[in-house]
Parts: sequence; C-alpha cells; structure tokens
Amino acid sequence: GMPTEHFPSATPNVNDGLVRLSSNENAFGPSKKAAKAMQSELLNLARYTDATVDVLAKKIAKQEGVLPEQVVITNGSSPILFGYADWITKNGNKLVTSMATYEGIPRGAEFMGADVTYVPLAADMTFDLDAIEAAVTEDTTAVYVCNPNNPTGSMVDAAKLTAFAKRVSKKAQVFIDEAYIEMSDAYPANVQSKLVAEGHNVVICRTFSKIHAMAGQRLGYAIMPAEQATSMGRLLRMGGVNYLALVAGMASMDDHENLNVMRKRIKIERDKLIGAAEALGQPYAKHPQGNFVYLDTGMPHDKFAEKMKAQGIKVVGRTWPGYDTWSRISVGTPAETDACVKALKVVLA
Ligand code: PLP
Repeated sequence: GMPTEHFPSATPNVNDGLVRLSSNENAFGPSKKAAKAMQSELLNLARYTDATVDVLAKKIAKQEGVLPEQVVITNGSSPILFGYADWITKNGNKLVTSMATYEGIPRGAEFMGADVTYVPLAADMTFDLDAIEAAVTEDTTAVYVCNPNNPTGSMVDAAKLTAFAKRVSKKAQVFIDEAYIEMSDAYPANVQSKLVAEGHNVVICRTFSKIHAMAGQRLGYAIMPAEQATSMGRLLRMGGVNYLALVAGMASMDDHENLNVMRKRIKIERDKLIGAAEALGQPYAKHPQGNFVYLDTGMPHDKFAEKMKAQGIKVVGRTWPGYDTWSRISVGTPAETDACVKALKVVLA
C-alpha cells in the first residue's frame, strides 16, 4: 500500500539523526497525490522522457501564461543556474547582483571567470533595486534577482520589480529566481512570468524542491525568450529529465489543496522562528517570505552551528560575506520547529 509517512527511512538522505533545518527543504513532504502518481508509474522507466517533458512544458506554459517553447525543464533548477552562469561567460561575461543572495549563478559565473558585481543590500535588507540599476551598464550581460531572496527571505515590491525589469532588461537580461515564490503570502500576485510573455528580456526560474517538497526528486524549470530556450534549453535538458519527477511534478501542480495548505503550514512555522527572534531580541531580516529566517545570532556562524548541533539541530553551515554573525534557519515540521525554538533559547540566552 501507499506509505503514509516519509519517516523512518533507511537512507541518510532522509535521516541523519539531527533535526535538519540547514537546506531550506520542505519537511512536510510531497503531495500524497504526487506519491501515488509515481507509484503507479514505477515500472514505466524504460523510455526516454522527451514526450512527457513536452506535456509538462505545456502545463507550465498554461499556468504561467507563456508559450511552451519558452519553457525549459531540468532535473532541479540548479542545472539552469549553472547553465546560465556559463551563458553569461559567452555573452559579455558581466553579472550584477546583490550581496547575501543565492550563490548558484554568481558563484558559478565567478568560477567560470565572469566579472561579478555584488551590490550591498538596502538598509532594510531587501535587494536594493535602485543601486543595482545604477550599477548596470551597457556592458552588463545579466542581473540576478532572487525573490524571495535566499538567505534573507525578503521580497521586493512586485510592481517595483516589474518596472525595474522592464527598464533594466533593455540593457541587460534580468534573471528572476522565484524558487520560493509560492510560499509568499501574496502568491500568485508576486509572480513575474508575465514579463516573458510580454517579450521582455527576462528569465524566470522555478523549482519543485521548495513548496512541492520534491528536492530529492529533482525537477525545476525556467521561462525565457523562445530563441534562448531553444539554444540553451537543448543543452540543459540533454538526456532528458527524470521520469518519476515529471509524473510527480504534474500531479503536485494539480493538487491545489495541498499547495494552499502548505503555504499556510509554512507560514505558521516561519512565524514561530520570527517570534523566537523577537523574544530573544536578535535582529533578523524582516518579513521573510520563504521557509527560512535569517538572523543575527551575535556569534560567528560556525560557532552558532556547532552550538545548535549540540542541541540536535543542524542549521546552515555556510555564511555570506559581510554577514559573519548571521545564520539562516529553515522551518521544519511543527515538532522540529518547536525543538529549534527551544534550542535557540538555550544557545542565545
Ligand atoms: N534557487 C534558490 C533561490 C535556492 O535557494 C535553491 C536551493 O536552495 C535553488 C535555486 C536550487 O534548488 P534546486 O536545484 O533543488 O531546484
């Protein structure tokens, strides 16, 4: 029969003995309908998946109001980020982004030899769109915006971002990473796919790893101008996409009830972490909209990680330049988040 719980598991992937709040995973687990759909397809693994990829592309295109040929589907969104970093190096080699943001594109681009400009966050710890716009020149290849941003969880005003993207995309391509967008209170009003539909020089990136809780299955997509999707997409999805991921992704997209409940459950857990930061008087990035909170613990992040580990909680093990005493904590299940709050009280007392 259908497993009703995702614990316990024999693999360290699922259970390493610690409460794992370090990777912005969605501890609530995937849609039961997605699991059921995968189960019924378990023996249908003999074929390559191009035809099914096309079905999902059409489904995404319909949802986002774009054309199927503007959709690129990959095994998680990370291949898109690294493929995009490579694309930057071949199209002018210059990226502008913010400090304290997701490393996929900027770190990838740096590694491949690109010139990356990191603009400081605004005083309220949001992406400083005005300063970023001022840093863009005719030579800039691309601008990376993460919304909600990882690690801060902050969002920029939707109308302001739309206007920014329309202006800036005349000079450089604007890449908007919406990995956590479905977790935001104002979803779907925050979604920027319309920019691609309207023909602006914009890329939108999404993943099934976050609200769909399928990080272990690997499925993500980008929406971009059709010509770019044809050239870049052909390389990115070479060999196709994991079949069970496609099956699960489609079922999860259809499970609107699950997604609505998930958004509410995540908010409840996020509010617990915010409440703990407030009660302990620790500064944190305000109004986080993903499944994580970024807070100033007042100690080096590795020391904080070590102290939390002693309490059985694994928090993020990396840091962002300029934010050495800040740590990012993901929300967990109610019991996991409660355990984390308890540990925070011990460690930060
Ligand atoms: N984009 C952002 C902002 C993320 O935080 C992550 C993962 O944490 C990713 C993209 C990549 O996730 P995946 O490759 O699982 O889609």
